[in-house]
Amino acid sequence: MCAQTTTQIHDTSHISYESLLEGNRIFVEESLQEDPEYFNKLANGQKPPVLWIGCADSRVPANQITHTNPGEIFVHRNIANVIVHTDMNMLSVLDYAVNVLKVKHVIITGHYGCGGVIASMTSKQFGIIDNWLRNIKDVYRIHSKELDAIVDDTQRADRLVELNVIEGVSNLCKTSIVQNAWQNGQELSVHGWVYSLATGIIKDMKVSTQNNSQLDEVFRFDGK
Ligand code: ZN
Repeated sequence: MCAQTTTQIHDTSHISYESLLEGNRIFVEESLQEDPEYFNKLANGQKPPVLWIGCADSRVPANQITHTNPGEIFVHRNIANVIVHTDMNMLSVLDYAVNVLKVKHVIITGHYGCGGVIASMTSKQFGIIDNWLRNIKDVYRIHSKELDAIVDDTQRADRLVELNVIEGVSNLCKTSIVQNAWQNGQELSVHGWVYSLATGIIKDMKVSTQNNSQLDEVFRFDGK
């Protein structure tokens, strides 16, 4: 379903249930070699400055692609990094990140070749997920003029990936959690990124938002 230009995909045939546990043993050994206090420090608590909301896709792991370590990014992932204001799972993560961990940045990261986004552009049924992908169809509807004008299927899907992130940033800013944080003078920025599976490079969509100035008045809470 992803935009595959080569016939080869990453070989996962060496991965088994047992190999994961063996991998864990190596991880512990290597981590302790580098720093004998590694796990003691992490066990003492976390203070990540960033909340990452990304796609569940196995090829977009937050820590690896940003060269960060355990303890440095708080992570929430769902299919196609959709921001739905009734999603209790996402809202709980966001609330904890903003109000307890006091993260300074929330980053919504989509990726080109996203299977969820591509599926949302078809009329096919995939099961329960159709209800989830409906949210991306709404993004398409909002931007249908721009998207329908793109002839190439891959380019149109890539643009929908970007627009899904941009709409996600907007939706996140409208949550009572972000609104209250800003109302209380808390330092909090919401960003939108798109990751390229083909190059490994992240594109900043330049929609970073730190306050209500870019938001329609109807979505602003004034604290009264
Ligand atoms: Zn995806």
